[in-house]
Amino acid sequence: MTSSLICSIRPAEIHYTIDFHYNLLEECSFLAKFVSGLGSKIAIISNNVVGPLYGESLCRSLVSQGLESHLFIFEDGEKFKTRETKGKLEEQMLEKKYGRDTCIIALGGGVVMDISGFIASTFCRGIPLVMIPTSLLGMVDASIGGKTAVNLTYGKNLIGTIYQPKKVIIDSSVLKTLPLRELKNGLTEMIKHAIILDASYFSYLEKHVEDLLHLEQDKMNQAIYTSCQIKKTIVESDEKELGLRRILNFGHTIGHALEKVSHYQIAHGEAVAIGILVESYLSFLTGYLSKKALDSILTLVHQFNFPFKLPCEVNNQSIITAMQMDKKATRSQARFVMINEIGSTLDFDGNYCTTLDLEPINKALNWMFHDLCSHSRAFFS
Ligand code: NAD
Ligand code: MG
Repeated sequence: MTSSLICSIRPAEIHYTIDFHYNLLEECSFLAKFVSGLGSKIAIISNNVVGPLYGESLCRSLVSQGLESHLFIFEDGEKFKTRETKGKLEEQMLEKKYGRDTCIIALGGGVVMDISGFIASTFCRGIPLVMIPTSLLGMVDASIGGKTAVNLTYGKNLIGTIYQPKKVIIDSSVLKTLPLRELKNGLTEMIKHAIILDASYFSYLEKHVEDLLHLEQDKMNQAIYTSCQIKKTIVESDEKELGLRRILNFGHTIGHALEKVSHYQIAHGEAVAIGILVESYLSFLTGYLSKKALDSILTLVHQFNFPFKLPCEVNNQSIITAMQMDKKATRSQARFVMINEIGSTLDFDGNYCTTLDLEPINKALNWMFHDLCSHSRAFFS
């Protein structure tokens, strides 16, 4: 083990560690020892991509160390993050006589984290959960903070719980099989972490764009560690997102709206990368952010080569309408997290977000269409 972070959630007084290993899944005696103290039966929940890659061997290793373990698999994809999938997995577990003495190991990307966490929080009224995220986004975002959820036709993440795991284990060696587009989804959240809270991390990212895109092990591990530290620090002080935790939504007011109006054809990370730039531009237009800082953000995000393509039917009005449904919206008015320099957000009397006039919003969206996403018409071709 290289290192670990302690996550302390108050007032519930829940404490657990985020452990950083390399090649843990090949050498899992430490994991076997830990989970054997949490339950006499181990349910590894994964999907049909990650399961064959890492879940089957993990399950065999746990069995060979004397633990009763099974792998429970559902189909890969956001569209399977549903109540139906949750119900099916629970029935499969019950069928195999899994009960209160079960420990769940969630093994996969954010979808697996969210659905396994939700199951752990309700199965027999709550059983221990260990998270082993395998996507970069899962490592730096979805596995930290305890949010669990499923999607409904009414919208994403509408039903869920807040339920903290007993441990998060991060083994970045699994990133070697992660597709580049998925890697970039995680990188977007890491850039966001740097912009909202840590200027020196921003400089680190500027220096190591190529290393991160090429999975240079030490550089990537350092970046993952820093991002986890930032996310857990924010969550520790505001688990229920009543104030400070909102800063994690930087880039997401625009990003979520773009995902929605494009009918989720734009990947989350791609939409948030655009959102980060448009919301930085808004911070500049409203006089909070300097042109120099805006330019540094633009340069960094561009270096990661996001596609910046938007569907042709998207326009200012459709985005503004979609933003009215944003979770931070108040009286149908979108609210934005604003930055006043790299590494610093404005607190707006503890709300950490603010409404804005339509004029700067329209100006920023025009800038997005004309200067940022110039190939928008090629999206569907
Ligand atoms: P995902 O879980 O769909 O994973 C992306 C893809 O990568 C999938 O096809 C997956 O099977 C594959 N994959 C994962 N690890 C792999 C590996 N090591 N090798 C090869 N393929 C691998 O998507 P994601 O981006 O990881 O997570 C997005 C989800 O997370 C969304 O549902 C989102 O709502 C949720 N989320 C939750 C939180 C939270 O706080 N709970 C935070 C952010 C996102
Ligand atoms: Mg996000």
